[in-house]
Amino acid sequence: MLVFNHKTNHFSDDDLRVLAVMARQLTVVISDASTYLRFSEEKEQLHATLLSLGVALVMVDVNGHISLINDAASRLLGESAIIGASYQKVIDNPHIVNLLQTAIRHGEEQQQEIELTLPGTQNTIILQTQTALVRSQSVHFPRVIGAVAVFNDITEIRNVERLKTSFVSAVSHELRTPLTAIKGFVATLLQDQDDYFDKSTRNEFYEIIDSECDRLKRLIDDLLSVSRIEAGRSLEMRREPFSPLKVAIRVVRAHKSFAQKNKLILDAPKDLPVIVGDEDKFEQILNNLISNAIKYSPQGGEIRLALRAENELLKITVQDHGIGVPADKLQRIFAKFERVDNSDTRRTGGTGIGLFLVKHLVEQHGGKVWAESTLGEGSVFHIELPLAGNGEDDDEDKSTFKDFVK
Ligand code: ADP
Repeated sequence: MLVFNHKTNHFSDDDLRVLAVMARQLTVVISDASTYLRFSEEKEQLHATLLSLGVALVMVDVNGHISLINDAASRLLGESAIIGASYQKVIDNPHIVNLLQTAIRHGEEQQQEIELTLPGTQNTIILQTQTALVRSQSVHFPRVIGAVAVFNDITEIRNVERLKTSFVSAVSHELRTPLTAIKGFVATLLQDQDDYFDKSTRNEFYEIIDSECDRLKRLIDDLLSVSRIEAGRSLEMRREPFSPLKVAIRVVRAHKSFAQKNKLILDAPKDLPVIVGDEDKFEQILNNLISNAIKYSPQGGEIRLALRAENELLKITVQDHGIGVPADKLQRIFAKFERVDNSDTRRTGGTGIGLFLVKHLVEQHGGKVWAESTLGEGSVFHIELPLAGNGEDDDEDKSTFKDFVK
């Protein structure tokens, strides 16, 4: 503060006393003003933070009016839930209204899981809702001035928990089925001390035991792969040239005994080129698709595994004439633990990890997978993998391959 005196060129003692008082008051005013500015900036920041929070938040005052609502909460509660509106009138969900009422009227803060149908849709989500009381900052008269409700969408978490529970029971069932068959046939053979069964019948039993052991191994391999992926570790992939044709022949052979009702067809040119990748993982991919085609064709029908080399790509299709997949589930079936919830599927065993693994393994090979299907008529699963080269496979297995081309 600068003060000039033009008249006398100096200040009297009285002047100085008055000026000292003025200076003190000015200091107080300036410090109050800067505190106010700081508070209002902080308030604005807090307000902006609350509005942009990912978590949904609504605040109501003791008169029942909405005093703050952020975008996330508006999406949950609908367009009419705006600042100033009566929350009891504009919030449709009775549980949310009840929680806010209990907080304001009885001073009770609560946590509850609430199901909410999103406004204008049929979609129901699960919200973990927490209410808290808002108190005034006054030291002398602390009082409740409103309540706040915070909503956390936990639909995905609950879905995964539900899927995991059914997955555990599905896995137990899937493990028990081949084990029961193996134990049954081994016990029968052990009891046959007098050679009641002839050699060919015994061989048939051994073949069933062998293929059930393969089935068990495939399931355990799949489970181990999924747990590796879940742990964030990528699957170890070999990068070696191999013949996809040889693998396809092996897979079709391995599934013959499971596909009594189906006609399994391998449709591929003899000079199909080699590809670079992991042969075992490629076998896992085909095994999963072929065993699904058999499983989901309870009435039988032709199952065709076709392989073609076209435009630098190995194109694979697995076509069946089974129960099919509803159009809206065609994407979801590639997700972990996902099974189509229809009576046909429920009658069929499965764990919901096969296609998840197929997708993962195909992508690890730099390829893509997708499905087409007509409910009740059948499905086609497509895979495209990059080709390593056009070298023909000089293989002694070609004669065997011919047997399968019908
Ligand atoms: P699952 O062990 O249940 O067969 P998958 O991941 O292999 O698991 O498949 C997921 C779901 O996709 C299955 O539960 C089934 O509903 C559907 N599905 C897969 N393949 C077929 C198919 N060929 N035909 C009809 N539905 C299929």
